[in-house]
Amino acid sequence: MIIKRHKTKEIQIGNIKIGGNNPIAIQSMAKVPTKDYRKTVLQIKNLEKEGCSIVRVAVRDEEDAHAISQIKSAIRIPLVADIHFNWKLAVCAIKSGADKIRLNPGNIYKRQEIKEVVSAARDYSVPIRVGLNSGSIPKIFRYNIKLKPARKLVKAALDYIKLLEDLNFTDIVVSLKCSSVLDTVEAYREIAHRCNYPLHLGLTASGFSEAGKIKSAVAMGILLSQGIGDTLRVSLTDEPEEEVRIAKYILSSLGRGSFGPEIISCPACGRTEVDIEKIVNELQQKLSTLNRLSGGERLTRPVRMAVMGCVVNGPGEAEDADLAIAFGKKQGLLYKNSKPIRKVSSSEAVDELLKEWSKICTRS
Ligand code: SF4
Repeated sequence: MIIKRHKTKEIQIGNIKIGGNNPIAIQSMAKVPTKDYRKTVLQIKNLEKEGCSIVRVAVRDEEDAHAISQIKSAIRIPLVADIHFNWKLAVCAIKSGADKIRLNPGNIYKRQEIKEVVSAARDYSVPIRVGLNSGSIPKIFRYNIKLKPARKLVKAALDYIKLLEDLNFTDIVVSLKCSSVLDTVEAYREIAHRCNYPLHLGLTASGFSEAGKIKSAVAMGILLSQGIGDTLRVSLTDEPEEEVRIAKYILSSLGRGSFGPEIISCPACGRTEVDIEKIVNELQQKLSTLNRLSGGERLTRPVRMAVMGCVVNGPGEAEDADLAIAFGKKQGLLYKNSKPIRKVSSSEAVDELLKEWSKICTRS
């Protein structure tokens, strides 16, 4: 299946571009007070290692806003300042070096205040994300019982976009986050047909780890498969690196990016005669260690490795994988490029796979 992306405007955010034909950028957010420079930088550096492309920080007061310049000097990826209620903080964050700002139309809505922010954003070539959230929709839409939740978000976003456009400002990114998967899908689908600004995908308050991952994967999977979305954040009540890991899984499962080795494994059943779960966990852990040892440089070569419990589906999966093992009793048959190359025992399977994987990675 070929996914045709919605055409969106290209927007520069610091040293990267989003929208147009640019890769879908993975975002996350620092989860420590921004004014705590050391902790914030440490968290962002870990996010960089994990493959995060853009990071957002909360700006709650002037101290946070001023910390941006110090943080920026220590990180490589673009930084977005998240602003609520106080337009002056947006101006301060821009002057402090933020690469993009997020404004919430639910709490910064006065024309004169927006005009001041736009003026600074234009002077410093900083784009603005119109960041709607179902928990803080502008009052005139929030209490309109005739409008469905998705319509409220879309109408509020279009109003705000019009306000920015009337000020001749079009460096805009849009997000419409709900905690409901169906409302999120409906809102993004509609806005994608109503404007050509890049869309930042996400759910809000998606929930604790497992639930949040599944809800995010379903919502973003639907939207991305329809070509909607230029950047995304998987919001989780979890460590920020996990948000990036899940975003990578979502994108790679839709063929929207390659983030290193992909492990395909069978779920195991009554035919399985080896401990598939143990083998796959060991493989995953060793790959993570190798990644860390490589100095945090991600091992980005997209190698597909299949670990299959028996010969029912093993040879078939091996045809589609760069490397595969189909297990029988205690030992397995190792495949490379669809061809069986040798038998390996279950205890040496992981190291044998890694040996072949490293040969593929070092091939020019
Ligand atoms: S590949 Fe074999 S062992 Fe694995 S789930 Fe399928 S039938 Fe069971």
